[in-house]
This record gives sequence, C-alpha cells and structure tokens, in this order.
Amino acid sequence: MIRIAVISGKGGTGKTMITAALAQLLPGGLVLADCDVDAANLELLLSPKIIRTEPFIGMKTAVIDPAFCNQCGECMDHCRFNAIERDGDIYRVNPLRCEGCAVCVHVCPIAITMQPRQTGEVMYSDTEPGHLVHARLVPGAGNSGLLVHAVKKTAMEQDRNCDLFLIDGPPGTGCPLISTISGVDIVLVVTEPSVSGLHDLKRVVAVCRQFRPRVLVAINRFDLEQSLTEVIQFWCIEENIPIIGKIPFDPMVIESVRNGVPVTFMPTSPAAQAIQILESNLEQELRYYRDQRK
Ligand code: SF4
Ligand code: SF4
Repeated sequence: MIRIAVISGKGGTGKTMITAALAQLLPGGLVLADCDVDAANLELLLSPKIIRTEPFIGMKTAVIDPAFCNQCGECMDHCRFNAIERDGDIYRVNPLRCEGCAVCVHVCPIAITMQPRQTGEVMYSDTEPGHLVHARLVPGAGNSGLLVHAVKKTAMEQDRNCDLFLIDGPPGTGCPLISTISGVDIVLVVTEPSVSGLHDLKRVVAVCRQFRPRVLVAINRFDLEQSLTEVIQFWCIEENIPIIGKIPFDPMVIESVRNGVPVTFMPTSPAAQAIQILESNLEQELRYYRDQRK
C-alpha cells in the first residue's frame, strides 16, 4: 500500500477539492482518510454512507468527587491552566480547559482522579471511490493529533489490501500534520500564489523533510498572481521539488462544492481538466515509486 497525503501550509488552498478529485481519478483500489479532523470536509464532496461509528477517547481529564472534597481550594491554586472552577461550595473541573497534567491529583489524591473522556468519534464509511475513515472532534476538545492517528490506524487495518491510501491532511505545521505525514510515502503540498501561500509552503516542506517522504507540489489558482506563481516555481526548482499540477481559478469549482460533488463531475471545468493532468503526473510518480520498491 502506498500512502499519499495531500496537505497545505495554510487553510483554503483547495486541498480537499483536489483530494476528492484524485479519489475519483486514481485507478486501483483505494482507501481514504480525512485527517483534517478539526474541519473534516471531505465527506461534503463524497456523500459517505456510514457503516459504523466508534467513540474516540482522548487523553484523561481530572474529575473531582464532591463526596471527598472539603472545599480547601488547594487544587484550584495549583492548576496552571485555570481548569478548576468554583461554584459556591462546589469545585469542578472544566474539561475544555483541563490539559491532563494530573498536578491536581498529586495535590488531592483523595478527591480527584484522572478519567477517560470521549472527545470525538471515528466513522468508517462507504463512498463511490472507496472506504472513507473520517472523524468528528467535540468542539473545543484537544488531542487532534491522537485522533488523526486513530483515523489512519482504522483505515490501514480495515483496508490493508488496498493499493493506495489517500489522505486529506490538515493545514498548518502542528501536531495533526505531524501525525498525518508520519509513515507516509508521498506528500502532495497544495499551495497558492500569495505571499502567505509561499511562506507557508516553505514551512510545511521544512517539516515534511524531517520525515523523508517524496514531496510534490501543486499550485492552485495559479493564474490569479502569475508573478508569485513564478516565484514558487523558482523556489521549487531550487529545492528540487517537482510541481506536478497547476490548476487555474475556475468558478465551476465553487459550483461543484455547492452541489456536494468532486469537480471531476464537471468535465468541462478547466480546473477538472488540470487535475486530470496532475493525476497522470501523480500516476507516473506512483509507477516510479513501485519500481523502486521491487
Ligand atoms: S478537590 Fe481536593 S484540593 Fe480541591 S478543593 Fe476539594 S479537597 Fe481541596
Ligand atoms: S489535570 Fe492539570 S489541567 Fe487538569 S484540572 Fe488538574 S491540574 Fe488542572
């Protein structure tokens, strides 16, 4: 199984739109994962039918048992995250603020314990191009890196015989990204011609290089700022990073999102045609990768 993650240094570059289109175009059996767990949107384009849902238990959080609390306030003084609140004589932990450090348990082992808390759910679904593993995180809950790991693990265990594992990754360079690209063979970074797009491309490539996957780039809406597109191209040449796709701005992309379908459902769309070229370049990369493995 070859693992491909589609990521971006910043949000809004069109990463999910490209992932959904590639899912439709890439040949062979594939399994999909939406690892952008803080804003999972791949399901909006692939209309999944949920087969099953499993709870996601994140890190433990502190819980105060009022039966053993003498209202001394020591725990509140020691919590650096202001997670312990007082309501009259009642002390309780705000789970959205609790960072699970367990300092309060050391302060008061009689009344406080660390307990598991469900902070999300992982869904295993059917879509037209293949099974999709996606997730929902409780609003305000942390542990998105752990949830990404759970999503990837489910996909790899359930569909281990698939040729391809295609991941819609998170934007940024934080914990969810690191969890996404760990163990991945190919990373496709989607960028756009803007000052922040280039800045974030450099940052995300620097992170990827720590994990040594093959790094490829696609420039979305490349025609909106040609001079910056050229700067990105020069930078990629200097860094020896192949640009395998350049997608023009196309209002039909917005229409396809409004209709809840991948843009490849609109064959006259210039963006869809450009993604077909991107996909054939990606297939060449996959062939090369498979040959290297033989
Ligand atoms: S939980 Fe423990 S430390 Fe906190 S107020 Fe109650 S008795 Fe004091
Ligand atoms: S586990 Fe840490 S963050 Fe959570 S309530 Fe206790 S001291 Fe505060």
